[in-house]
Amino acid sequence: MQTEFRNEAFTDFSKEENARAMRAALEKVKGELGREYPLVIGGERIETGNILESLNPANKTQIVGRFQKATEELARRAVETADEAFKTWSRVPPKERAELLFRVTNILRERKHELSAWMVYEVGKSWAEADGDTAEAIDFCDFYAREMVRYASEQPLTKIEGEDNQLTYIPLGVGVVIPPWNFPLAIMAGMTLASIVTGNTVVLKPSSDAPTIAFKFFEILEEAGVPAGVVNFMTGSGAEVGDVLVDHARTRYVAFTGSMEIGLRINERAAKAQEGQMWIKRVVAEMGGKDAIIVDSETNLDEAATGVVQSAFGFQGQKCSACSRAIIHAEVYDSMVEKIAERTEKIKVGDPSDAATNMSAVINGKAFKTINEYIEKAKAEGGRVVAGGGADGELGFFIEPTVIADVRPGQIIEQEEIFGPVLAVIKAQDFDDALRIANGTRYGLTGAVYTNDEAKLEQARHEFHVGNLYLNRKCTGALVGVHPFGGFNMSGTDSKAGGRDYLGLFMQAKLVSTKTRAGENAKQKRTAI
Ligand code: NAD
Repeated sequence: MQTEFRNEAFTDFSKEENARAMRAALEKVKGELGREYPLVIGGERIETGNILESLNPANKTQIVGRFQKATEELARRAVETADEAFKTWSRVPPKERAELLFRVTNILRERKHELSAWMVYEVGKSWAEADGDTAEAIDFCDFYAREMVRYASEQPLTKIEGEDNQLTYIPLGVGVVIPPWNFPLAIMAGMTLASIVTGNTVVLKPSSDAPTIAFKFFEILEEAGVPAGVVNFMTGSGAEVGDVLVDHARTRYVAFTGSMEIGLRINERAAKAQEGQMWIKRVVAEMGGKDAIIVDSETNLDEAATGVVQSAFGFQGQKCSACSRAIIHAEVYDSMVEKIAERTEKIKVGDPSDAATNMSAVINGKAFKTINEYIEKAKAEGGRVVAGGGADGELGFFIEPTVIADVRPGQIIEQEEIFGPVLAVIKAQDFDDALRIANGTRYGLTGAVYTNDEAKLEQARHEFHVGNLYLNRKCTGALVGVHPFGGFNMSGTDSKAGGRDYLGLFMQAKLVSTKTRAGENAKQKRTAI
């Protein structure tokens, strides 16, 4: 019998046995760094000889994995192979597909620390952040398997006499899955698993900054019994193969998570019908954020400061949900700036494989450069650096957690997504002003409000226009099933990953109405009389 869904527990690394297990996983993974991995199309391992390297951002000469750059021809072949596999995979009963996901869930659980260790090396996640990412991947897998069973069950329809009516959810076709590097296991796995459990087939093109963890996941799918061709593994430059995958006439939908710029590009290209195309392509696009935490005058300032700092600097601020704006009521502005700066200075920046590290390097050289440029722009616009501000690009791409006070609404760092450890602190005249500032960007992903005033909380419920609003708590850390996730406005299509509506995006509903012969639905007639 199926038990109730429960979130995977986070690992308590203060327990020696857990810390030991994580150290062993890091050791094991260290011994496997630098290997070369193929493309996989229809189960066939392919090498192009044109290599891209995934590097450890905290130790930039260390190669984590070497990957093939796909050609345009191979990208086309991947879509066509997935299209062929769709003919059989789409006919596999939903419950069997769900069973397969339960098997994947079990393997993910068994290899939990090993998967987390790969993320420590490949994207610079601290132990806790990597563990959270793995736990979320496990949750997506378990949750979507259960959801498929629900979607496959009889759907309630209004009964009428003389007809038998049934609504079933059927898959769409070939999905191109394009994840970001920042939740390189959870988001990548979530979009892929939602695709295949609903009966679609996939071309998975992971980010070039995090292909190794994606390959490890792909191997787990194979081990669990996902047939060849159902998921095809494709690495290469997003710009080069991305367009080919999105444009292909047999691509039925694109599941994308990443920046606004790329999301809009995909949306535009997918909208253009290609020769021979039979459908309107669907685009599920979850994009960037410029998330704000409002701190009112009537609140516990210590709790608010802790919430702001945790939301701003967890995983170096490289979360779409990260707090990049703290909007503070004028009456408590000075003391809040002080409390935020104090907590920020205590963050330990360093090697992510060290258990004591809270924060590590940003993802790559390009991010290192643009984030530092944003700090300079902020200073030029009159921002006051009250914590951090320094950077060290020698060994890895390290940027100190940086707090910039006296930022004004409309300034560059108040408007643009920086995607790094930089927090803008803005003074608001009152609560109305704070809400106006919070809503004053193109984005609408997450937000939080700290206040003791019930009326203000109620006002925020109605007026703070974000997909995920948190009251008196931090704005990161959405849990599958608990906080379905997705943003408004330029933050995306509000897909609500990890929620009951999500799988519906990967299917279409078919209604079959059968006229029944007289007497066959006598029972129904009796009720009608
Ligand atoms: P990105 O947009 O640079 O890349 C995302 C993916 O798109 C990568 O796999 C990349 O290779 C691919 N890509 C690049 N060019 C392409 C093209 N022309 N066609 C098709 N694919 C292409 O984003 P990123 O740097 O990997 O991730 C960070 C961004 O993701 C931030 O903006 C962050 O806010 C956002 N994000 C959003 C959510 C959410 O749920 N809303 C979650 C995580 C990250």
